[in-house]
Amino acid sequence: MSETSPAEKPTAAPAAPEKKTESLETIVALCKRRGFIFASSDIYGGFNGFFDYGPLGVELKRNIRDCWWRDMVQRRDDVVGIESSIIMHPKVWQASGHVDGFTDPLVDCKTSKQRFRADQLFFAAVVVDGSVRGYVSALESEDTSGALQAAAEAFKRKQAIQGTLAPVEPREFTEATAEQIPQIPSPATGEPGSLTPPRAFNMMFETQVGALRDGSSVAYLRPETAQGMFVDFKPVVDTGRVKLPFGIAQVGKSFRNEITPRNFIFRSREFEQMEMEYFIHEDADWQAHHREWIQWCWDWLKSIGLPEAELSLYDHPKEKLSFYSRGTTDIMFRYPFGVQELWGIAARGNYDLGQHEQASGVPQAIFDEATKKKFIPHVIEPAVGTDRIFLAVLCAAYAEETITDEKGATDTRTVLRLSPRIAPVKVAVLPLLKNKDALTTRAKALYKKLQHRYAVFYDEAGAIGRRYRRQDEIGTPWCVTIDFDTVEKDGSFTLRERDSMQQRRISEAELFTLLDEAVY
Ligand code: ATP
Repeated sequence: MSETSPAEKPTAAPAAPEKKTESLETIVALCKRRGFIFASSDIYGGFNGFFDYGPLGVELKRNIRDCWWRDMVQRRDDVVGIESSIIMHPKVWQASGHVDGFTDPLVDCKTSKQRFRADQLFFAAVVVDGSVRGYVSALESEDTSGALQAAAEAFKRKQAIQGTLAPVEPREFTEATAEQIPQIPSPATGEPGSLTPPRAFNMMFETQVGALRDGSSVAYLRPETAQGMFVDFKPVVDTGRVKLPFGIAQVGKSFRNEITPRNFIFRSREFEQMEMEYFIHEDADWQAHHREWIQWCWDWLKSIGLPEAELSLYDHPKEKLSFYSRGTTDIMFRYPFGVQELWGIAARGNYDLGQHEQASGVPQAIFDEATKKKFIPHVIEPAVGTDRIFLAVLCAAYAEETITDEKGATDTRTVLRLSPRIAPVKVAVLPLLKNKDALTTRAKALYKKLQHRYAVFYDEAGAIGRRYRRQDEIGTPWCVTIDFDTVEKDGSFTLRERDSMQQRRISEAELFTLLDEAVY
């Protein structure tokens, strides 16, 4: 038996990892298999749009949130945090415009009882030799045009129509005319006649507060955390010794009755937001602040391990902005289902504070010593969903690698290349052998010591190579193996790195230094 930890088989470095987009199913399966995420209320068949985070998932999510809080609030001199209530006075949501305007266009299919978002449902006329012969429809996907084109060709074949089919021109269902709607097939049944015209559907969940159940008791679960920062602006200014420009941040649950929750945790009905309102002088160069925050968010995503190649920026076109918004830029991530919004950074003017001043009658203006003027500050809002970051880091970190040993035999390993900042387990402590007291005692002592500061895992079951692979699959950056040299010689142990699979000897002090630098 070898004195020290045996080299892992196969030992050769992994082939240059080719980055391919993993399918969403692969990620969902891993989440289920390893206890990252479960369907909510699974024993009752699940509940669409709701999810539970399991033992590893809750650690990963908490790490993302804690990193954000440390970097956004604790490590900055100009941002403070709050935690406001989830259910606020209903007048908040009237003033903010959510009661009247927080709607999605809803389309019902009367036959299947399915519901669609009109802005995610597309249709096209089937034009043969210049005349319209019918309509086809498709739900938004990475290749909506391709899907509509294929549907148009199938339609022409099925109806045995002769002639030349024109390329389809996709339109959003929101643009369908009253004459077109009855002719557009439902994506649920493939038959026309069952789709209703779009109607505004408010996405806020309603509840009743108090014993009386009448109109006056209606309240809402918040659809965003941002209004908490606006409503608490005055008390923070009055008590917090803050000076412009400064930010108020909050992390917490938000709720939206999404018509079509989909893409796993990307769009769910209960989710967590990490938002910050950065208040600036009314005459400040808002574009410069906006740019700075876009850069900050971009850099922060990199700091938790998202590769720049998977990120991009999207500037909302001026004509699609809400009337009060001056500019919105989204940081987009390449998810398996397409490039989608991860983080929105909006310049919102002073609309929200102004609305609350008007509705509550409580002045929100602050006094500027320099100009001796009162004004309502303007705001830059970076708003991101923790769950969307969670999904992005899993997609970016997931790899199946083919590795070849020195004899040429190949093997596949699944590895999550998570940043040590957010990995659910930082170190796994492994005694080389389970039945040698000297090894397990030393390993457990190290494990207990590490546990004071870090999330660590102790595993003595199975061959060492298999134990390494189990850790690879959950993204543990390092394993340390306690062997006979550890207890008989200098106390050093084998440190095995997840990504390179390289092994080296390291002392306990060096291990703590390594962790201190990597987990911040
Ligand atoms: P979308 O257009 O995707 O519905 P949005 O523009 O309405 O999103 P915001 O209101 O700007 O989103 O919310 C801020 C952030 O909250 C988003 O960038 C996203 O990360 C997250 N978020 C919004 N809706 C959901 C949801 N249903 N599930 C998970 N995260 C969400």
